[in-house]
Amino acid sequence: MLSTVALSISLILTLYLCIVMVVMPVITIGKFIAALAAILIGSLSWICHHEKLYTASAATIVGITIVGGFVASLSNGGADGFVAPIMISAPVTAAVFIGARATLISAVAVVMAIVSLLFLERMGLVSEAPYSPATLDIAAIVMLSAATGICAAGVGYFAHAMQTQIRSLRSSQDRLMQVTGQLDHSAHHDSLTSVANRQGLQRHVETLLSGLDPTERKICLIHVDLDKFKSINDTYGHPVGDAVLINAAQIMTAEFNENALVARVGGDEFVIASSERAGTPDEELQVRCNRLIALLKAPMIANGVECRIGSSIGFATSQGRKCSMDSLMTDADLALYEAKREGRGQARAFTPDLRVKLEQNRSFMLAIEEALEDDRVCCVLQPQVCLRTGRVTGLEGLGRIRSETGALLPPAQILPMLTEMGRLAEFDFKVMQKTLDALVELRATGAHVPCVSINASSVSLRSPDYVTRVQAELEARGLTTKDVIVEILESTLIESADDAALTSIARLREAGIRALMDDFGSGHATISNLMKLELDGLKIDRSLIADIESQKTLEVVKAVCGLARNLKLTVIVEGVETAQQFAILRSIGCEAVQGFGICHPLELPAVKAWISSYGASNVHQLQAQLS
Ligand code: GH3
Ligand code: MG
Repeated sequence: MLSTVALSISLILTLYLCIVMVVMPVITIGKFIAALAAILIGSLSWICHHEKLYTASAATIVGITIVGGFVASLSNGGADGFVAPIMISAPVTAAVFIGARATLISAVAVVMAIVSLLFLERMGLVSEAPYSPATLDIAAIVMLSAATGICAAGVGYFAHAMQTQIRSLRSSQDRLMQVTGQLDHSAHHDSLTSVANRQGLQRHVETLLSGLDPTERKICLIHVDLDKFKSINDTYGHPVGDAVLINAAQIMTAEFNENALVARVGGDEFVIASSERAGTPDEELQVRCNRLIALLKAPMIANGVECRIGSSIGFATSQGRKCSMDSLMTDADLALYEAKREGRGQARAFTPDLRVKLEQNRSFMLAIEEALEDDRVCCVLQPQVCLRTGRVTGLEGLGRIRSETGALLPPAQILPMLTEMGRLAEFDFKVMQKTLDALVELRATGAHVPCVSINASSVSLRSPDYVTRVQAELEARGLTTKDVIVEILESTLIESADDAALTSIARLREAGIRALMDDFGSGHATISNLMKLELDGLKIDRSLIADIESQKTLEVVKAVCGLARNLKLTVIVEGVETAQQFAILRSIGCEAVQGFGICHPLELPAVKAWISSYGASNVHQLQAQLS
């Protein structure tokens, strides 16, 4: 572009020179035509060079200019016939050739041309025109025509260059629009699943909200999180995990294709933004969410591997309120949190009470946090007694947390919260220390307590130094490995089929510490686990005992006791509350029991008192107490 402008300026300057020369009679027409020819030849060489018709060096172009000037000057003859045109043409040609700096150089060229003409005249190197006035007129016409031609050529070239420039601008603009489109797409879409990303979702929902007529429609945000997705990655590797995410996105897109946008907003989190009729009830949305959960649950082939994946959903709508994308998202998130807390694999609608619940959870979490820092973890102890002799066989240490006011926090809420906070292993450990301390203290007062049971969560068992730490705590108190039994939840054993937890169980038993399956009968695959795992005993879950008076349940309990006997496992039954249950369990040969009917879990001073008053009670006294 700059070169084109420079060329045009040079051509205009050439025209200017023509006029200067015409009004300066001292310059011969021959010299002028020679200069003009030199400029023309130089300019054409440059245009050819610029248009890549041929490539020439600067020296070639200047050379052509000089030769052109020389040939043209022959018509005039003599040294002045040659020198003058070259002096005029050379700087102008150079200006044309250099192009980019042509404006400045052309100005210099004009000044030089005029000065050189004046100099030539002073030096007497130019002479009066030897031509007649008629010849001069013809020459003037030829000269003006030539100048006009040069200008026309310049303008034509300029127009052509402009056209080329416009065409190239248009194609650049098209390319730019294409690239902008691609950039916009990748800024608003997820590269793995190709559905929208968080930014895409934000833009979509904001557009929907801005044009929303609440009497006609409402926006619904459905927040989906895959359950235990990490285990897919851990078991089959990330490529399979990626394929599961892609499949999940496709299932959602196929299910919510109309009036909805699917977005992946995090690792295994998706949000479906759908526009619904204003009157669509939550129940209808609930049904659709349940259907999505069922679709996602079906076996899928991911990267050649068959997998199953569960999901939890929370959804919120803009029904009857003014809301923003953020507030809708927070509400859907809260509902999802609740769906996860309530056991996963379900859909939950947002309700305002969830906000209150969240606030309560937060303060509960804070209370637990502070209690852990201030060492307000404690244990309560529940006696276990022998069904044959009635004597105390052990105490189970149950973890509790004391609030600042001294009250014990509700135990059912503590474990899920500690799990969520990632502090369950720390809690387990503190409870173990307190339980062992209690055993030492009870024995110091002369109480007969053969052993204590402690509970180990799956996170504790997965810790590689769990067994070493238990041994160290026993040693530090002068206790032996026979003084403690580790109770492990049946669900933990099922979940951790072949991982670190099983290694810890094997190590416990190598160290001489007994391990017992807790809550037997509350989960799945119990029999196969019993066969597979090396354990010392099992504790039958309270849910079976509550119903033991029914013949069917009784047969199940009898069979379990028989099976345990054959496998040489000890059996404890928990949840014994009535004399009836006690009598039945005794009649079927059960060994040991624990439950509210015998004694509630008590704090250390109360357990001390209970043991001393229980004294040498036998099974008949116990039966009488229960009656
Ligand atoms: P929960 O049931 O509580 O939802 O537990 P979860 O195992 O599903 O875990 P969570 O939702 O907290 O974490 C999601 C995991 O997804 C964490 C990360 O390892 C995995 N992840 C995140 N992005 C990707 C990805 O692009 N590809 C794969 N394969 N995995 C991912
Ligand atoms: Mg998840």
